[in-house]
Amino acid sequence: LTNNSGIVSWQKSPCRFCGTGCGILVGVSGGRAVAVKGDPNCSVNKGLCCMKGYHSVQSLYAKDRLTKAKVRKNGQMVEVPIQEALDLVASKLKQTIESHGKDSVAIYGSGQWTIPDGYVASKLFKGCLGTNNVEANARLCMASAVTGFMTTFGIDEPMGCYEDMDHANVFITWGNNMAEMHPVLFSRMIANRKRRSNVRIIDFATRFTRTSQAADMSILFKPQTDLAVANAICYEIIRNDWVNWNFVNEHVSFHKGKTNIGYGTEDHFAFQDKGENISFAEYKQFLEDYTPEKVEKISGVPAKDIKYLAALYGDPSQKVTSFWCMGMNQHTRGTWINNLVYNIHLLVGKISTPGNSPFSLTGQPSACGTVREVGTLTHKLPHGVVMNEHDREMAARIWDVPVTNIDPKPTYHTVEMFRALDRGDIRFIWIQVTNPMVTMPNLRRYRNGAQKDDRFVVVSDVYPTPTTDVADVILPAAMWIEQEGLFGNSERRTQHFAQIVDPPGDAMSDTWQIIEVARRLGFDKQFPWSEENYIEKIWEEYRLFHAGPKHEMAPYKVLRERSGVQWPFVNGKETRWRFNPKHDPACTNGKDFDFYGKKDNRAWIWARPYEPAAESPDDEYNFWLNTGRVIEHWHTGSMTRRIPVLHNAVPSAYVELNPEDAAELGVVNGEMVRIISRRGQIIIPAQINGRGVPPRGMVFVPFFDESYLVNEVTLDAFCPISKQPDYKKCAVRLEKV
Ligand code: SF4
Repeated sequence: LTNNSGIVSWQKSPCRFCGTGCGILVGVSGGRAVAVKGDPNCSVNKGLCCMKGYHSVQSLYAKDRLTKAKVRKNGQMVEVPIQEALDLVASKLKQTIESHGKDSVAIYGSGQWTIPDGYVASKLFKGCLGTNNVEANARLCMASAVTGFMTTFGIDEPMGCYEDMDHANVFITWGNNMAEMHPVLFSRMIANRKRRSNVRIIDFATRFTRTSQAADMSILFKPQTDLAVANAICYEIIRNDWVNWNFVNEHVSFHKGKTNIGYGTEDHFAFQDKGENISFAEYKQFLEDYTPEKVEKISGVPAKDIKYLAALYGDPSQKVTSFWCMGMNQHTRGTWINNLVYNIHLLVGKISTPGNSPFSLTGQPSACGTVREVGTLTHKLPHGVVMNEHDREMAARIWDVPVTNIDPKPTYHTVEMFRALDRGDIRFIWIQVTNPMVTMPNLRRYRNGAQKDDRFVVVSDVYPTPTTDVADVILPAAMWIEQEGLFGNSERRTQHFAQIVDPPGDAMSDTWQIIEVARRLGFDKQFPWSEENYIEKIWEEYRLFHAGPKHEMAPYKVLRERSGVQWPFVNGKETRWRFNPKHDPACTNGKDFDFYGKKDNRAWIWARPYEPAAESPDDEYNFWLNTGRVIEHWHTGSMTRRIPVLHNAVPSAYVELNPEDAAELGVVNGEMVRIISRRGQIIIPAQINGRGVPPRGMVFVPFFDESYLVNEVTLDAFCPISKQPDYKKCAVRLEKV
């Protein structure tokens, strides 16, 4: 929508449809958001948008928008006044705690929560109610990225920024279909290649995608074997003496060890900091199992291609940026594969300088801001963890609650939270701005739990979904620019947006719903804000957690003025490259880099072995199933399927088949195929020679369509460290229907 007629104002906001955080200008007419254009002053996208961004405001206005609260009475959902619904939520919360204990209640949000949403959720549940049952769907999409950062650097979030895209001349996309998932960043990469003669894009993936099509080279590997290939690249770098010894001797240490200790368990600190030191010689010995020739047999990647990748990383004249997202994070060894890509960059010293960046991208607009920074995971506090006494004391002081309220033990990560709901250990769950009855892997198991009679499920959302179908109370939510808020994008950029239009009917923000319930429970002192300026007041309270040069956040008035500010924001300056003293004021060791997240001020190279997937094809289930997204749709499609132009472009999900497999099955485009796993089955139309082509023996299904619930089939195995499930690999068989 770019027609200017009748538009009375253009107001800035970040887009809400992915973690890139493009700045957009929203055109308003007659009190409605009617148009979108890219914000030319936003450094993220410099005026560009993708199709979801351009059409994003239409997601506010579909006919079946939830505008009234509903409560289940005698099995039927009936409309009630919003105040009555909030009274019921508060009384059920109270009763459940009285009958079953504080850990029988939970809140589950998402990376689409604004920063204030996540902050008040954490304050109410962790600070006031005393339970660590707070999780968010970002556990399903980026927990392995966090554990990768923590184990290698001791501190979370990327050291680089999007400007790396303008400086690098080699881009390697690791299991990351950027052309569809991060299209504006991908366009920046392509623009760089057009501008300069020496830019190359190498796509390293398990299936041929639109990113592979646009790349200069596509390298396919067998699922899970990226672990072996990354080690082979390191082997080759060392064999050719492409190691940057100055960098390695000064800034790197080598480790192996306690690899199954979990993120957010009581052993959290061991997981983060207690790997056993090994020598470089021991690390080199470990890599002897990963010669390119040996790894070719495991991975299917020709040894010459592994050597080519190693040469690109190893050539001192090349600036190399690696990008990854779900392909590496949704992996039963997600933490390890994150570590392994850092290993490569660290061996050659290509890190934290413009254009040299290992860059883990996020999928949701505030997965970083709300989930990683505010800390809406069971073990986290705002800028801290519940296991740390100092962090608990700080939270208690800022939140004005007794420190004994904050439980030092984490409870359930996301998969365990829904298992606890199934078992009855959790009896009350409040789900906000996410759709777990579509997104949980091995879905049937978790839907059964949510549907049990003595479970109480509250859902705050904007449209009916399979999750509102299992709700006992539905609270209509304000969406995105119908409220003031803040997101945090993939490059540590905090982005403010003002309320631009009014929410419909009784819809109110998730923040305000939580405040209303908190007050009904008697926590007026902790939630004192009036509706005026409350977002600013919440931000300034939250900012108290972030004192110090490693993570200082910008004041609200600065955020309001700019199209985002990258933290740490120290002495009025943003930080673009962390750990590099030319850019990062937190560096104090007097050297050219300071990896201050680790006690030894060094980044850690980890010896991480190849390990097979949790489930691989066999005689009975002979195909790999891979799942993911398409550019037209956002997550479960609950918003984008209601935008006509996006819905018409891809009206339903499909199973993408290799043409030879399709011929063997006797299936042509559009015919129905049954996909069967050990957990369930779906029937879905076939797509052959579409936008992507899987290799023989693999099928791909996008998960945006609730009519074809691919998660009935997927496996709920997860990385033992990050607890993030692997949606990219399980074994299925196919039948023509
Ligand atoms: Fe929005 Fe992401 Fe598209 Fe940018 S790339 S316009 S943030 S969906």
